[in-house]
This record gives sequence, C-alpha cells and structure tokens, in this order.
Amino acid sequence: MALDYKNCINCKACEVACKEENGVLLGADKHRIWVGVNEIEGEWPNLNPISSTFMPSQCQHCEEAPCQEVCPTNATYYGEGGVVMVDAEKCILCSYCMNACPYDARYVDDRTMTVDKCTFCSDTRLARGETTTACQNTCPTKVRTFGDLDDPESEISILLRTREHFSLKEHLGTKPKLFYLM
Ligand code: SF4
Ligand code: SF4
Ligand code: SF4
Repeated sequence: MALDYKNCINCKACEVACKEENGVLLGADKHRIWVGVNEIEGEWPNLNPISSTFMPSQCQHCEEAPCQEVCPTNATYYGEGGVVMVDAEKCILCSYCMNACPYDARYVDDRTMTVDKCTFCSDTRLARGETTTACQNTCPTKVRTFGDLDDPESEISILLRTREHFSLKEHLGTKPKLFYLM
C-alpha cells in the first residue's frame, strides 16, 4: 500500500470506515488504523508549533515480520500475497507479538480475547472481490493506493517507480509494505 501522506487532513474517515467494514471494537485505543500527529515542524531553533503534519498508519505487513517470528502457536502467519494475518482460533493472547511489533500495530479484541490488527480487508472487501480497502475507498483526499506489487503495471507499482518514497523504521530490517510517498 502506498500512502500520499501529505494529503491527509486527519478527517478520520478511514478510521470510521475500517471499524464499520471490519467490525472493529469502538474506542480510540481499539484500532487497526490511526493518524499520528506531529504538532511541531522544523528544526531547533526554527520550530513552527502552529503547523501540523499527519502520519496515517496501520500494520505495515512486514515481509520480515517480528510478530510472526515470536508467535509460539503460528497464529500469526503470512496469508495470500504476503498479507500478515492472525488466526484467532490459534491465538492464546500471550502478547509476544504486541511486544515485538515495532509499529504498535496490534491491539486486544476484548470480545474474543485475541489479538487483532489490519488485514488489508482480506476477510471483508477482498473476500467479496473488491480491489480496494475500506480506508482507501473512503478517503476524500485519496491518500492510499492498495494493489499488487508483483504486477509491474499496477497503479501502486507505477507510483513506486515514479515517486520517491520511504518506509517507517527501515533500519530494523522488517521490510514494511507500507510506502510513504514524498
Ligand atoms: Fe507484524 Fe507489526 Fe509488522 Fe504488522 S507492523 S506485520 S503487526 S511487526
Ligand atoms: Fe501469537 Fe496470539 Fe501470542 Fe500474538 S498473542 S504471539 S498472535 S499466540
Ligand atoms: Fe482497516 Fe482494511 Fe484499512 Fe486495514 S486495509 S486499516 S483492515 S480498512
């Protein structure tokens, strides 16, 4: 997924759409997706506290996922297309994955007492044959582009070929699959 993050206006439509589409618990701390806010821009001493930048985020679907490595029951696994998934039937809520995730992308679903996180809408929209995620579909400023990285002609592949981009905490070697466009 590519994120044109500078277009984010922090309207929270993606957060609402994700909860609605995927049946995520209500509450700000029960989320598959969030918008981080950097309240201050610039470097010391030229700080600009008036200006804010928004950093929308969710599970990075890491290619080398620390959450998958530490899961003792293989509840966390790589699904179709490399999407990192959680099998609630196998999750014993040991929380190893929550501690291992450098992106704080997981939370506890109090109804099932298992760990949950973004699935790229695999069980909902993608299972119905849709090609966009709920967060992508609802965003008024078109921040997100989801697609097939193995298809050189997909919109996301073209974006990543033509736009500079970065990933979060690249130095950790997790190989995130969220790409932030410059
Ligand atoms: Fe796992 Fe966290 Fe990476 Fe998602 S962002 S795949 S939860 S380590
Ligand atoms: Fe695996 Fe569940 Fe433990 Fe996470 S909490 S490591 S998914 S068993
Ligand atoms: Fe939620 Fe789907 Fe977006 Fe993931 S891709 S944050 S599950 S709406």
